[in-house]
Amino acid sequence: MKKHLADYRKTLEHEHGWEVELICSACGYRGLPTYKGWQPGYSMSFGVTPTIFARLECPACGRDLESEAATALVEIFSQEKIPRVNRRILIAFFAAMAIMVLASILLFVFTSGLWGLIPLLLITPLFVLIPILNYRVASLRARCDCGQPHYIFMGMLGRAYCYRCSNCGRLLKLRD
Ligand SMILES: [Zn+2]
Ligand SMILES: [Zn+2]
Repeated sequence: MKKHLADYRKTLEHEHGWEVELICSACGYRGLPTYKGWQPGYSMSFGVTPTIFARLECPACGRDLESEAATALVEIFSQEKIPRVNRRILIAFFAAMAIMVLASILLFVFTSGLWGLIPLLLITPLFVLIPILNYRVASLRARCDCGQPHYIFMGMLGRAYCYRCSNCGRLLKLRD
């Protein structure tokens, strides 16, 4: 069990970073920014609003390059599609959820008294489904065409996670 839990956490973990060149709007420097770790951010959760977690600085003048990175993230990833495998996982998840909710409602309607508690028992598995969904989506990062997947998490576009393989530059956009 412990091993499974460790494996689960490891799969869900992602490496923050930034390996794409930016142009500093203050001094005109063009190249890789200095990566100074990351900070938690709050995604707006809709549309293509970019959220950058990496703290990026211009190596020439020290300007914070968050807005430049946000623009770049939109440019790089807005045309990128969620992979079909990812979409299939989402559809299966929502279908399973719909079936459980429907079963709960039917039980609630056709039973009474103590039996009315059964829907609660059926709702519980929903919370089991969410970690399974997250795990299955995160597992997609274990593969890359180059054979040496090393995905760097660059930020979020709406609710989509944006990754770039450090070895081959392949882009990956995931939803969970
Ligand atoms: Zn600069
Ligand atoms: Zn790759």
